[in-house]
Amino acid sequence: MGPHAILRVRGGQPISGGPSLEDDDRIDEETFATNVRDRIIHAGQPRVPAGPNLVLSPLQNETPYVNPPEEEIALPEAERYEPTPVVVNEIPSPEPFQKESAPVRTESQPLDPDAFQMCASGVTKSYVMGKVVVPVLKGVNLGIREGEFLSIVGQSGSGKSTLLHLLGTLDAPDGGTIHFDGQRIDNISSGQRDILRNRFIGMIFQFYHLLPELSVLENVLSPLMIRDSAWNYLRNRSRYHQKGRELLEAVGLTHRLKHKPNELSGGEMQRAAIARALISEPNILLADEPTGNLDARTAREILDLLRELNRQRNLTVVMVTHDLSIAREAERTVSIYDGRVD
Ligand code: ADP
Ligand code: MG
Repeated sequence: MGPHAILRVRGGQPISGGPSLEDDDRIDEETFATNVRDRIIHAGQPRVPAGPNLVLSPLQNETPYVNPPEEEIALPEAERYEPTPVVVNEIPSPEPFQKESAPVRTESQPLDPDAFQMCASGVTKSYVMGKVVVPVLKGVNLGIREGEFLSIVGQSGSGKSTLLHLLGTLDAPDGGTIHFDGQRIDNISSGQRDILRNRFIGMIFQFYHLLPELSVLENVLSPLMIRDSAWNYLRNRSRYHQKGRELLEAVGLTHRLKHKPNELSGGEMQRAAIARALISEPNILLADEPTGNLDARTAREILDLLRELNRQRNLTVVMVTHDLSIAREAERTVSIYDGRVD
């Protein structure tokens, strides 16, 4: 057991934190807090806080913001995008899930928000490019039931990321409504959206968006550091570290606690990002091309991990992908085509 860590709070009295920690758990809490808070303070517009309140450019998540490894930036377009359009309607899963509830079919009518955990009704979204208005979503109706594993498949540019960002309140729709747990979330304040994303909605992305200056464990704990006051964080840090370790064990990363993101493989970075998304025990995980930058075998492992989390924790997973073979691994697949979801 090491000495108690000391955290200075805004030049005030140093305060000593709760019980001591294991050696490989020890974090320089002061630097950690400074790193995380600096990052948030610099998160002004047009960048917005993402899932765990980390900094992301909305709708540009394929362009890495946080120092991704170089080979990822250089990834040729051909490998990232489906060359031919994919149009699918409800695809039967090759290996049906052993679940009691029957799959929910997406209706073409506006949906009853109370019947779903998350629900988009008549959602529209356009982008203005100079003087041209480009409609992307033209009335999306999509109900997501608690505990299901849903994939949304569509060709590049079909609006998958746009839709996922709307569901995750990273952006607001032009029309229609989005409900979560029976409450409207498309028109709430930015403060409320931050809380929602920090506590209830987990998000992961193709390029992981880990903070490069933080270790794996610190990245995983960062949503809690953001959420809590310094005092609260210190008081709970033993429990938090324990939880972080447990999650990193669940995603198979216990041997990488102290590593920095640039010392990890793509698959390991995605595992860390998944652990970070789950630290606040969200009810739903939104995943934007989570395997899009991984080789086939690693992609399969991440997919297996998501399925395991879905089954064991009853975590709702919504996964967006352009890859049909990945999409059909989900319990239910819907397609996005011509601005609508079938
Ligand atoms: P997908 O994730 O399916 O590849 P996106 O949702 O990223 O598709 O984009 C859908 C369409 O909207 C594309 O034509 C894209 O160029 C456009 N788009 C996305 N984000 C923006 C933006 N911020 N400004 C203008 N156009 C955008
Ligand atoms: Mg996308």
